[in-house]
Amino acid sequence: MTPAKDDDQDQTSDMSGTRAASSVAERSASMVGRLTGEPLAPGLYLVATPIGNLADITLRALSVLARADVVYCEDTRHSRTLLSHFAIKSRLEPYHEHNASEQRPRILAALERGSRIALVSDAGTPIVSDPGFKLARDAATAGHAVISLPGPSAVLTALTSSGLPADTFLFAGFLPAKSGARQTRIRELASVPATLIFYEAPQRLSDCLADLVAVLGPRPAAVARELTKLHEEVLRGTLADLAARFEAGEVKGEIVLLVGPPVAVEVSDNEIRARLEVALATMSLRDAARAVADALGVAKSRVYDLGLAMGRERR
Ligand code: SAM
Repeated sequence: MTPAKDDDQDQTSDMSGTRAASSVAERSASMVGRLTGEPLAPGLYLVATPIGNLADITLRALSVLARADVVYCEDTRHSRTLLSHFAIKSRLEPYHEHNASEQRPRILAALERGSRIALVSDAGTPIVSDPGFKLARDAATAGHAVISLPGPSAVLTALTSSGLPADTFLFAGFLPAKSGARQTRIRELASVPATLIFYEAPQRLSDCLADLVAVLGPRPAAVARELTKLHEEVLRGTLADLAARFEAGEVKGEIVLLVGPPVAVEVSDNEIRARLEVALATMSLRDAARAVADALGVAKSRVYDLGLAMGRERR
């Protein structure tokens, strides 16, 4: 009978799923075992850690964290939870914005003695909107090996799930908290031909979207929230759609905000001529061509040639 057959099939697929899971577990454990059994070369290891889902840790990250002489982190209690989850007992020391200038010379001296140092942040890839830039720079300048272990990062996770172009993108970190400074920064980025990516605090999302609409107008955008976690969601739409969606409601969790590149608009000769007429009333042809080209985002030579033609037509 049909139901019995379905039950049989379910049991068979459960069994093959269990067998597959144990093979994967065996192979993964054997790889971590092999890596952990090899000596770790001296140097500074930048280790990416999960942004929510602990299963996103890499096998290589585990093997480096287990062998490091010291693991520097933003918050020792937070990182102890991560390490304990994988039974890693390495020494943890704090490295954060308040103690970095005292810790850095100590870490560089340890590297000089041949230590194996790991750096992690609370979540994701160290250095990206997190501490570690000066440490990695100074370690490299001093001739020490600086090895980055790829892994979770909110920027790339958000970008790839956003549906926005990923061939060219600009990660701009956190926008300023005050509206005036935020609008100025958005204006600076307005003509960049790339998908723009920002980190944003949930309590500022609504104000930030309002400023983005005001400065950039109708562009495609996405809000990626709680990536890799239980309440993960990616909302896609125009900036105006998203601004309306988040206008009133309180939003919680961690957020990445993405805005698609500016759409190239075809500028007609008539539009250039009209702008040139106005500009030529107060400027030389050379200056007027530069001003109009900048304003319309077209080649200066095209504007200049149209200006010459307008001059000939008047004679
Ligand atoms: N270094 C980290 C990385 O590589 O993603 C980012 C650290 S930055 C201090 C923290 C910000 O990253 C959050 O405020 C949020 O904007 C973003 N973020 C981190 N985890 C996230 C997640 N699971 N979902 C969405 N955004 C996240």
